[in-house]
Amino acid sequence: MRGINRIGLKLGAAIAALLLIVILALGLIIDRVFTGFYHTRMGEDVEELTRHFAGMAELHESGSDEMIHMFAEFSNVSISMVDKEGRRTADLGSLKVADSSFITKTSLAELELGRSVRFEFAASSGERYFVSAQPIAGGGHASSALYVLSSMRSMDESLERVRILIAVSAAAAFLMAIAFSYFMSQVLSRPLVQMEKAARTIAKGRLEKRLPVGSRDEIGTLAKAINDLSQDLQHYRDTRQEFFANVSHELRTPVTYLEGYTRVIKDGLYESEEEKEQYLAIIHQEAQRLKRLIHDLFELSKMEEGKVNLSMEWLDIGELVEGCVNKARLKAREKKLQLLYHPAQNALFVYGDGLRLEQVVMNLLDNAIQYTEEGRVEVTLTSAAREVGIAVLDTGIGIPEEELPYIFERFYRVEKSRSREFGGTGLGLAISRKLIELQGGTLEASSTPGEGTAFTIRIPLTNV
Ligand code: ADP
Repeated sequence: MRGINRIGLKLGAAIAALLLIVILALGLIIDRVFTGFYHTRMGEDVEELTRHFAGMAELHESGSDEMIHMFAEFSNVSISMVDKEGRRTADLGSLKVADSSFITKTSLAELELGRSVRFEFAASSGERYFVSAQPIAGGGHASSALYVLSSMRSMDESLERVRILIAVSAAAAFLMAIAFSYFMSQVLSRPLVQMEKAARTIAKGRLEKRLPVGSRDEIGTLAKAINDLSQDLQHYRDTRQEFFANVSHELRTPVTYLEGYTRVIKDGLYESEEEKEQYLAIIHQEAQRLKRLIHDLFELSKMEEGKVNLSMEWLDIGELVEGCVNKARLKAREKKLQLLYHPAQNALFVYGDGLRLEQVVMNLLDNAIQYTEEGRVEVTLTSAAREVGIAVLDTGIGIPEEELPYIFERFYRVEKSRSREFGGTGLGLAISRKLIELQGGTLEASSTPGEGTAFTIRIPLTNV
């Protein structure tokens, strides 16, 4: 049953059912209104005629019977003059009604009291009539009342025609509604069916699947959401694969060193005690690197899961940055680099995690010193209306423009050997950016190869 999609069927059936109810109710109302109208009109007409005939009969003039007969012929009604006992004394008009049962006891009783009556009567022949009766005043008259019968046939025929018309238009409207709802449900549900198929394809791992986004309505946005989802999943899968490849590679390198040098020592393959010490130092260094790598990876995974608890407090950012600069002095001196600090004009307070901010600034300073051979490293604290800026600038090797967008990615290193030499994991900037973002700030880099690099941290002052 794939062809007839179920949502289309449901929608079509609901619309058709609703329409059917409306059409039926409307048909019934129209029928009632028409029938009521015809009945009242005809009843009034016959009553009017009866009054008229009764008036003529009461005049009791010679020839009045002929007059009445003529009028009755003309109006296509049957007139029966009836005496007190209910016997027909005269029948006028062409419409002959053989059945006398319309002269009911109740009507006679009413007429006796001088009141007119009006009712419907079905003759034994099956024909239906409107009956209106009036008493005839004036003594000496053989007939005491006058019954006028008007056939309902033409009214019934008219009503029948109206009913047929209502039924035909209802059926036509219903068919049109069914066709329309079928069309609409197809239009509405086709993209949904497509989306279901696409979602199943994506679930099977074919993440490159994309849906056409045809409209801007809910269906269009749903298609876009599915596309975004599969794109995210694709990105996630690719980066995860890359990440695992990187992790195993990064772990393998120090482990290979550890394995190699421990074997050299174990097998006594060294020539002097000094050489042995050298190998032990390498082993120590590699073990340290491994420890750092594992620590960084753990940090990063905690951050990605959103499990990092920041201890936020009001910080004198000038004091914090100056502390970091002082810590880096020794390293800068060792490389004969000038280390300058430009504080802000006034004390600046930000709401943040002091230890984490220090970790980021230290990472930037370490990198700046690490990747600069001569010149200087400058740290500048600035304040704008809404944010505090911490810029770390160096006159080092710089970063090629095409590599700049990637340096914040995990394990990305421009110069692998130099980073390794320094004990870098390639995770420092990824961690730093995440930490700053967690505190609502940004970390950006700009660089000119051969001239230097600048990293800028911006922390908003929204809480002040
Ligand atoms: P690492 O542990 O390798 O330093 P980072 O994530 O801190 O890792 O940095 C990523 C890469 O960005 C580094 O390997 C280096 O190539 C480049 N980089 C970072 N800071 C600088 C800088 N100040 N000057 C030049 N290159 C830099």
